[in-house]
Amino acid sequence: MYEALTLVAAGMENYGAYSDTNNAIGGLGLGGFYIDQWYILLVIPAMIIALIAQARVKSAYNKYSKIGNSRGMTGAQAARMILDDHGLTYVPINITQGTLSDHFDPRNNTVNLSPDVYSGTSIASIGIAAHEVGHAIQHAEHYFPNKVRSAVIPITNFGSNISMILILIGLFVTAFNWLAWVGVALYSTVAIFQLVTLPVEFNASHRAMNHIRNLGIANDADAKGVKKVLSAAAMTYVAALITSLASFLRIFLIVSGSGRRRN
Ligand SMILES: [Zn+2]
Repeated sequence: MYEALTLVAAGMENYGAYSDTNNAIGGLGLGGFYIDQWYILLVIPAMIIALIAQARVKSAYNKYSKIGNSRGMTGAQAARMILDDHGLTYVPINITQGTLSDHFDPRNNTVNLSPDVYSGTSIASIGIAAHEVGHAIQHAEHYFPNKVRSAVIPITNFGSNISMILILIGLFVTAFNWLAWVGVALYSTVAIFQLVTLPVEFNASHRAMNHIRNLGIANDADAKGVKKVLSAAAMTYVAALITSLASFLRIFLIVSGSGRRRN
């Protein structure tokens, strides 16, 4: 569900799926052209927050993937039960390779669970499976923040790919200085993407908690563990937003600083 690094650097694709592939450090994709004071003051602290968030989700997962849920249900069974309860009997549940690689793919409307979640009977398995199903239900219900997020994805892909080139041209070619500001504006789309991702992710986890309780998939003790895993996961999205904001602010300060030096 939460993998780390390189969303922006890798560009594309990952924005498409609800890659719960997280990206806490993705916001840095175009940040690394040199180390400056803002990198040290803004980006490195944000990276540390992101790394802590990632470590916390891994540790929560490690703990609750070893504790069985009270009904002995697999993630796939829990996912099927919630989907069917919402009339989504046609949404398939696939196995996808990797650890914490679970995601819902809106392009083909499939829930994709990692092997340990799919066939595991742990507390983490039912929690993560229910979270991904939460995305499937959002998709089916045309949940509004989801639509906003989908609309932002192509803009972010475009913006993140082209912004650094424009900034570099703008910084080094005097006649095209204005291009640097176009680049800065486009770079802000990364932070905007992270921002509109937050309500979607929090809502998917909120739905997951309700469904596993209402359908009796989890008892109170299970639900407590699920909540810990999903809350830790949610923090990685907050960290991703902080990281992309820090990175944006740095780029903004570099470009405005270069303007002052010229004038
Ligand atoms: Zn999610």
